[in-house]
Amino acid sequence: MAKPAELLSVAEARRRILATIHRLPEEMVDLEHCLGRVLARPVHASLPIPPFANSSMDGFAVVAADTQSAAPGSPVRLRIVEHVAAGQVSGHPIHTGEAARIMTGAPLPTGADTVVPFEDVTEHGDMLTVSSPLRAGACVREAGQDIAAGETVLPAGEMLLAPQIGLLAAVGIAEVSVVRRPVVAILSTGDELVAPGQPLAPGQIYNSNTPMLRAAVESAGGEPRPIPPARDDPAALAAALEQARGADLLVTSGGASVGDYDYVKTVLSGAGDIDFWRVRLRPGKPLVFGLIGDLPLIGLPGNPTSALVTFEEFVRPALRCFLGASLLRPEIEVIVDEEIDNRGGRETYFRVTLRQEGGAFHARLAGPQDSAMLHTLARAEGLLVVAADQPSLQPGDRAVVQVWQLPPAPYPEG
Ligand code: AMP
Ligand code: MG
Repeated sequence: MAKPAELLSVAEARRRILATIHRLPEEMVDLEHCLGRVLARPVHASLPIPPFANSSMDGFAVVAADTQSAAPGSPVRLRIVEHVAAGQVSGHPIHTGEAARIMTGAPLPTGADTVVPFEDVTEHGDMLTVSSPLRAGACVREAGQDIAAGETVLPAGEMLLAPQIGLLAAVGIAEVSVVRRPVVAILSTGDELVAPGQPLAPGQIYNSNTPMLRAAVESAGGEPRPIPPARDDPAALAAALEQARGADLLVTSGGASVGDYDYVKTVLSGAGDIDFWRVRLRPGKPLVFGLIGDLPLIGLPGNPTSALVTFEEFVRPALRCFLGASLLRPEIEVIVDEEIDNRGGRETYFRVTLRQEGGAFHARLAGPQDSAMLHTLARAEGLLVVAADQPSLQPGDRAVVQVWQLPPAPYPEG
C-alpha cells in the first residue's frame, strides 16, 4: 500500500482534475431566471445611469447663483412657477428669480442647476425664502454619474445575485448571456442504502449522500442529475454509469476504498481510465478520479463527511471551472481556541465552528472529527486546513478556515 508521502497532494490532485475541465458554452436567460447564474460575457451599459439629471431630494429646483447673497437676516425670495413629479418632464424653463417644486427622481428643469430640500426653506403661497447660499449642483444627480454610457458594468465570470440583477435591470437588460450550468450526475453506491421515507430493514441505512450532494451541486451552480443508487456489484455499477451519459461530470459516492465490495475503480478502469486513486488528505483519502471517454468521474468516499469535504475540495472547484467563475469559499485567518492534533502525514480539513471577538475570528472543533459523524458536519461553519507536515496546532496559533457560513449576528432589538 502507498505510504502517505507517496500519495498525491490535494493541490496536485485538484490540478489534475481541473486540467480536464473546460468552460461550458453560453445560453440566454431572462432576468427572472438568472439568479445564481454566471455571466458568459461582460455587460456594457447602452445608456447612462441615471439617464438624465434629476433631483435627489423632495424640494425646489433653483438657480444657485440667485442664492449667493442669501443670509438669515436677508433671505432671497424666489417665485414658484412649476411643479415636477418623478416621471414628468417640465415644460417650463427656470429663469433667474424662479423655482420649481420638484420630487425625488424628477428631471431637473432646464435653467435650474441645484435643488434645495423642503426642510431648508420656507414657503409662503407661491413664494420661497432661501436664507443661505446654495452650492451649484447640490442635491442633483447628474446624468451618467453612476454609470457612463458604454461602460462595462459587469465582467464575464460574475455571479448574478440581487445587486447585479438590479444593475442589469437599471440599464434596461431583460435577457443576459450566462454560462450553461454543468450537469452533474450523482451516483451513490452501496447495498445498504435505502431512500429516506422508506422503512429500514436490519443492516440498512438511509442514503444521505445523494440528497446532500444534490444540494451541494445546486448551491455550487451546477444542475444535479441523481441516478438511483447502484448495488455493490460490478454489473449493476456499470449499468448505472451508463445513465450518466450526457452529463458534464459524474460524481459517485462510496465503493472507492479497499473493501471487498468496492467496485468503483474496477468498473472505471473497464469503462474508461483511472487518472489517480487516493489523495494525501483527511478525511477523504480514497478519492478516485478518471475519465470515461470525455466524461470526468470523481469518485468520492462513502462516509458522508469525507464525501462532503472532498466535494468542497475537488468537485466545487471543478464546477467553478465549468462556469468560468472565480468564486470559491472565502478564506479567513482564525485564532485556534483549542489544541488540534493532526495525527501527522496528511492535509487535514477539520470541521470547526467560528466565533468573533475583538475583530478576530476564533475557531473550535465543531465536534468529534470521525468522518462518519454527520452531527459535526451539520454544526460546522467551515473547514480549518492543517498542512500535511504540521503535526498539531496549539491554542493561540493562527490557521486558515474555508468559510461555509459565518455565525449569525445577534437578533436586532425590538
Ligand atoms: P464505502 O466508501 O462504500 O466503503 O462507505 C463508507 C461508509 O459510508 C460506510 O459506512 C457506508 O455505509 C457509508 N455510506 C456509503 N454511501 C453512503 C450514502 N450514500 N449515504 C450514507 N452513508 C453512506
Ligand atoms: Mg460501500
